[in-house]
Amino acid sequence: MYFDGSLMKTGAGAGLLLISPLGVHMTYVIRIHFATSNNVAEYEALVNGLKIAIELGVRCLDVRGDSQLVIDQVMKASSCHDPKIEAYCKEVRRLEDKFHGLELVHIARRYNEAADELAKIASTRGTVPPDALSRDLHEPSVDLSSGANVETTAPHPTSAIKALLAAAEVMEVEHCPDRPFDWRTPFLDCLIRCELPEDRSDARRVAQRAKSYVIYGESDELYRRSPTGILQRCITIEEGRKLLVDLHSGACGHHAAPRTLVGKAFWQGFYWPTVVADAIELVRSCHGCQFYAKQTHLPAHALQMIPITWPFAVWGLDLVGPLQKAVGGYTHLLVAVDKFSKWIEARPITNIPSEQAVFFFTDIIHRFGIRNVIITDNGTQFTGKKFLDFNDWHHIRVNWSAVAHP
Ligand SMILES: [Zn+2]
Repeated sequence: MYFDGSLMKTGAGAGLLLISPLGVHMTYVIRIHFATSNNVAEYEALVNGLKIAIELGVRCLDVRGDSQLVIDQVMKASSCHDPKIEAYCKEVRRLEDKFHGLELVHIARRYNEAADELAKIASTRGTVPPDALSRDLHEPSVDLSSGANVETTAPHPTSAIKALLAAAEVMEVEHCPDRPFDWRTPFLDCLIRCELPEDRSDARRVAQRAKSYVIYGESDELYRRSPTGILQRCITIEEGRKLLVDLHSGACGHHAAPRTLVGKAFWQGFYWPTVVADAIELVRSCHGCQFYAKQTHLPAHALQMIPITWPFAVWGLDLVGPLQKAVGGYTHLLVAVDKFSKWIEARPITNIPSEQAVFFFTDIIHRFGIRNVIITDNGTQFTGKKFLDFNDWHHIRVNWSAVAHP
């Protein structure tokens, strides 16, 4: 994970770049909407990055940042006197315990360009790239009033994370014996205890589908292998619906269409089987979406096509000379240039009557096909009757231009 914070006149922000072992890139732009310093912005980037990694089920993480101060303080190489910074340090150390392996490395600024760019987008409130996820922070990620670290009751950046935390708590409760039906149970039974349902067809279905699931972590959580190779944490249908509501109409929701909602949920690293149906149902039952869906966003006029062009349709033609007399008595050169591919055809000639140009172009037609337009100047050999008859016969238009631009 690469992280960076940025402070500008327009505001503060943080940028994150997470790279999976298979090379899949995930980028986050976090806009900070409270008064902060550059160091706090760096810490916000680090803390939020660690939280996202934990939610994604990452257990081994290589963290790289260009802030020597932050890395040193977290690694206890230098002490921090500011209670604010101390609170952040404690939060980072608390989150550290959730990883099996966490490496914090200081790198030079030039190696942290991607995160730096994202942080600048966040702090200047610029346009977020289409493949990046954005969040808004309205209050610090740690409780600064007490100066000490607070457990899970700490105020959290977005309601999405709040929902996810709530979801995480729900999961623990679910291990009680009188739990409601959970779609994950058959897969957990199959993968942990090698138990299959009694019904034969159900057993076959579960055994086949269980191949794309894995058990991971100390609490035996179920993860699904996505087509891109990322492990998606499997959550209950109720948690999934809460997540969709937040993505759709929560703090950062922009009432996206079902397909986008599903993409966002998957992108955040979650999976449940009814996600598509849930998203469609959610958008259908959303009052705002239904009310404003009537407004058309299509342009009023037809799509304007880019004019079609193709090679060897338009040629420019000119005569070069008189040149120094060459062997064979050649004094002039007929030159034709294709306007699209810039292909050049040239032929030395001894005299300059109109039929020379006809022979020249007959040769070109045999090799490149009949052109649409010839652009040439008003030279006598090009305004001669033979040349014009030849073009009429082949339905080639001749456009005349100034001498300088044939
Ligand atoms: Zn909506």
